[in-house]
Amino acid sequence: MGYVDLHLHTTASDGVMTPSGIVRYAKSKGLQAIAITDHDTIEGLDEGLSEGEKVGFEVIPGVEISAEHFPGSMHLLGYFFDIHHPLLKGKLDYLQKARADRNPKIIENLNRLGVKIRYEEVVKASGGGQVGRPHFAQVLIEKGYVRSFQEAFERFLKKGAPAYVDKLRFKPKEAISFIEEAGGVTILAHPKTLGMNGSSALEKIVLDLMEIGLKGIEIFYPEHTPMEMAQFKTMAERYGLLMTGGTDYHGIEKEELDIGVGRGEMRLPYSLVEALKAARNHSP
Ligand code: AMP
Ligand code: ZN
Ligand code: FE
Ligand code: FE
Repeated sequence: MGYVDLHLHTTASDGVMTPSGIVRYAKSKGLQAIAITDHDTIEGLDEGLSEGEKVGFEVIPGVEISAEHFPGSMHLLGYFFDIHHPLLKGKLDYLQKARADRNPKIIENLNRLGVKIRYEEVVKASGGGQVGRPHFAQVLIEKGYVRSFQEAFERFLKKGAPAYVDKLRFKPKEAISFIEEAGGVTILAHPKTLGMNGSSALEKIVLDLMEIGLKGIEIFYPEHTPMEMAQFKTMAERYGLLMTGGTDYHGIEKEELDIGVGRGEMRLPYSLVEALKAARNHSP
């Protein structure tokens, strides 16, 4: 049995590889299956799934939805939903419309700060998919305003920085219900970023999410320390939650990280996929 990667981004959101490109890349790396989990969009799935069929490689439909949460960020991963489900599609389209309002405001803020970049340049950097802050960062680097992604976010783009504009997010309950309605399974992505202080605060959030349909947690993740992974695993075992993992490979900002292996340490068995399949609501 081979290995899998259940958290990947493409040009449909803020990754650099096209959906078909990432499928071919995963296959060339000897993986057995991948999930494409773009931020707030499923627009890359048609292409990714067709490429999988064409080259004989298993591609799992996925999405990573940002949900309202304080103080950190909550990302919910959906898997194995019906990619043509009108509710899920409609709700994600609505987020795209909200981004279309947000992005020009970020440009206005940057221009006001003396940063002369145009929206067309950012659209070009996005490679044709959804436009987000990483694409603004890319243009800021290209034009010499900053030297790195980190600097772009620190000085301009991160929450609280002068060019930041908030993004529309669904409530966790809404995001989970859209995924469930479409026949999918919802997993809490990288629990570390929730920014909870201590394991009991995290446990409370997880229990609340379970009440509204959460099925598992993403345990294996490059930014999780071995201690955090052990902690999340204990929690998953205690509550009978599914365990998943993935590299969150984007190809841009973290170039030392690769598909399937992360920083070299990840080996995720196909049994994670079998457990997810067993948990889905119906065959898509
Ligand atoms: P957006 O969805 O447009 O708000 O962009 C969110 C994306 O920006 C995340 O998925 C990250 O890839 C990236 N990002 C957010 N905050 C930071 C940060 N402080 N440093 C680097 N990248 C970040
Ligand atoms: Zn991203
Ligand atoms: Fe995420
Ligand atoms: Fe991600």
